[in-house]
Amino acid sequence: MHGAVRVVTTVVETMSQTIVIVGGGSAGWLTAGIIAAKHSPPTEGGPGTRIVLLESPDVANLGVGEGTWPTMRDTLRRIGISEVDFLRGCDASFKQGSQFIGWHRGQGESYYHPFSAPGGYPNINLAAHWQDSHTDINFCDAVCPQGRVCDRGLAPKQPQTPEYAFSLNYGYHLNAGKFVQLLQRHCVDKLGVEYQLGHVEHVIAAENGDIAALRLTSGEELVGDLFVDCTGFAAILIGKHYNIPFISQRDCLFNDTALAVQAEYATEDAPVASVTKATAQSAGWIWDIALPSRRGVGHVFSSQHTSIEKAEEELAAYIKADPTLADVQPGPRKIVFQPGHRETFWHRNCVAVGVSAGFVEPLEASALILIEKSAEWISEQLPRDSAAMAVVAKRFNEITRQHWRAVVDFLKLHYVLTERRDSDYWRDHCDTKTIPESLQESLSLWRTQVPWLYESNYRIELFSSVSLQFVLYGMGFVTDVRDSRYRHWKRNAEIANRLIRENNVKAETLMATLPTNRDLLNRVRRK
Ligand SMILES: Cc1cc2nc3c(=O)[nH]c(=O)nc-3n(C[C@H](O)[C@H](O)[C@H](O)COP(=O)(O)OP(=O)(O)OC[C@H]3O[C@@H](n4cnc5c(N)ncnc54)[C@H](O)[C@@H]3O)c2cc1C
Repeated sequence: MHGAVRVVTTVVETMSQTIVIVGGGSAGWLTAGIIAAKHSPPTEGGPGTRIVLLESPDVANLGVGEGTWPTMRDTLRRIGISEVDFLRGCDASFKQGSQFIGWHRGQGESYYHPFSAPGGYPNINLAAHWQDSHTDINFCDAVCPQGRVCDRGLAPKQPQTPEYAFSLNYGYHLNAGKFVQLLQRHCVDKLGVEYQLGHVEHVIAAENGDIAALRLTSGEELVGDLFVDCTGFAAILIGKHYNIPFISQRDCLFNDTALAVQAEYATEDAPVASVTKATAQSAGWIWDIALPSRRGVGHVFSSQHTSIEKAEEELAAYIKADPTLADVQPGPRKIVFQPGHRETFWHRNCVAVGVSAGFVEPLEASALILIEKSAEWISEQLPRDSAAMAVVAKRFNEITRQHWRAVVDFLKLHYVLTERRDSDYWRDHCDTKTIPESLQESLSLWRTQVPWLYESNYRIELFSSVSLQFVLYGMGFVTDVRDSRYRHWKRNAEIANRLIRENNVKAETLMATLPTNRDLLNRVRRK
């Protein structure tokens, strides 16, 4: 349908369209898979959606991004990948949440943000009851069995549990390089995505300001109706071509440098933790992501608050202190980034997904979930003509801005409640000048109201009130529940106490019956 550049600027009016996705990292392939699973390629001369994924042979993928949210189970199922193929192909393991070590007061304490909701959710708000009469047990253990299960390195399901089903909610830890390869194979072989190697050198604009075509270094021109910018930090369409402003979040979320190591186990049967461990350091934190064959360990820190040498020292000390890791490890890879996001994400016939749209830091694995959400939106709302394109773009921008505000507020929440005062980094995080007004407002509300379902009426939810509760009360936040609004909940005290007792019984049963994460993964790999 694309005879010449002139033609493609208006063909969105027809029933057949071409989507050009530029970039073959996780963002590019997830977007391709999610759209291709819903929209069939054109039949001979008939309607349909042609998806072309273009990747530069000269620019490597980011190759990090190894923790996901449970949404990834739905995404994989939706695009038709079997869980066993995924677990084997991506050296993946089960992730049941995150454990934050040393964030509240320093060494020797930790809390969990698990993926399973408190018992009775969303019919009863156990957090209010816990604040009222159960604070002798930590919040997570009182309302949910997952922390205790994770303490013992257990899996979230039994060997006989069907694919994607669970006893306890989970996402994944995965090898990012292998994930991209699996997605590429699946998208090309099963979903009809066309893959092309080529480096975009120049963007050819149509008269109305849309992108008409991309000129590659080979001289070839690639035309399309919708262009998805998945070019990572290069942001060649949304950034370099359209100059859409970048909103820095460096004054709020200070981390801007990461040192990443693919750490070897000391022995083949070393335990595989089922949570991302996030250990606070003097000017950042260390992530620790366990896969069956290695661990992804990295230090993300603020270059304004520490030196690379000190960050390296802290990372080396962390690895050395762990007897389950080998004595000799490869040197770290350094990644520098600017925390922030675009002001607008969909401009004319170009939409940015992934790091080209923004990235703030690895905490809580907010990047892949945003990619999944953006790609789902594009797929569901795929505009068929230019009038629809303008409306869809406007809505996409509104929602994505809300998502970014939710990401920034949620990540900053992890820092602002710290009682650590041992470095400028932690002191600066508590300085109100660095805390977004929206988060300050929420915190003042949460002093007298437990975060609950009203949060999702107020804004489109990326992180539910469940996540807010686990972080707030894990960090020792106090909500005054003497308010009259809690009187009717107090009438439910019997139900709440029963749920808390049942949670304890469930935890005991699961701890007695679940296999270890390593055992279950070994079985899957042998299947
Ligand atoms: C230290 C660190 C840790 C992270 N940890 C997590 C995590 O645990 N969980 C999580 O959800 N996210 C995490 N992320 C974010 C995650 O890595 C990214 O969201 C994810 O990798 C997606 O990247 P991408 O596809 O947008 O970009 P990239 O992987 O950088 O891909 C860019 C693509 O664009 C192509 N390209 C570039 N220029 C051109 C051109 N001119 N022509 C053609 N093609 C071009 C490249 O060839 C490449 O294929 C982390 C990020 C960092 C920095």
